[in-house]
Amino acid sequence: TDIQELLLSRIRDVADYPEPGVMFKDITPLLADPAAFTALTDTLARIAADTGATKVVGLEARGFILGAPVAVRAGLGFIPVRKAGKLPGATLRQAYDLEYGSAEIEVHAEDLAAGDRVLIVDDVLATGGTAEAAIQLIQRAGARVSGLAVLMELGFLGGRARLEAALDGAPLQAL
Ligand code: 5GP
Repeated sequence: TDIQELLLSRIRDVADYPEPGVMFKDITPLLADPAAFTALTDTLARIAADTGATKVVGLEARGFILGAPVAVRAGLGFIPVRKAGKLPGATLRQAYDLEYGSAEIEVHAEDLAAGDRVLIVDDVLATGGTAEAAIQLIQRAGARVSGLAVLMELGFLGGRARLEAALDGAPLQAL
C-alpha cells in the first residue's frame, strides 16, 4: 500500500551495526518525518482498536517512542516494559535468552489487571525473544495479549514461528 511504501522509504539500512555482519534497520528517518510518523501512529492505533485492546505496552526503548502516541491516539493507557532495574515500584521480572547470555525485562505489577487486553508495540521483531518475554510478563500479571504490532519483522530470524504458541491465536501484525 501507499502507507507501507512511505514507511519503508523512511527506514535506513546501516551495515555492520551494532557489530560486523548485522544490517541494522534504523527508524530515526521515519521518526523525523511527520507524515510517516503520523501514518504509522494512526495505523497502529487502528490495530489497537480492532484487537479490542484496553492498554498499550511499549518495549524499551523504541517501543516507547512508537507505543506512547499510539496509546494517546487510541485513548488507552500506556505501560512501559523496561530493562531490569529501571522501574521504581514493585515489578514482575522475566528473563530471556540472548545469542550470548541472557537479559531481563520488568513491568510495574500494578499497571496490569485481570481483564486487561494488551497490545504490545515495538519497532522490530527479530528472534522474538523480547516479545516472548513481554507476553509472559503480561500473562503473569493476569492480563491477556490482544495482539503484537511491529513496524518491521525480520522474517529470516523466525520470530513469528517462535511466538506462535505464546500468542495463542492473538494476531501478530508487521506493517
Ligand atoms: P528480538 O528479541 O526479537 O531478537 O529483538 C528485538 C528487539 O531488538 C527489539 O526491541 C528491537 O528494537 C531490537 N532490534 C533488533 N534488531 C533491530 C534492528 O535491526 N533495528 C532496530 N531498530 N531494532 C532492532
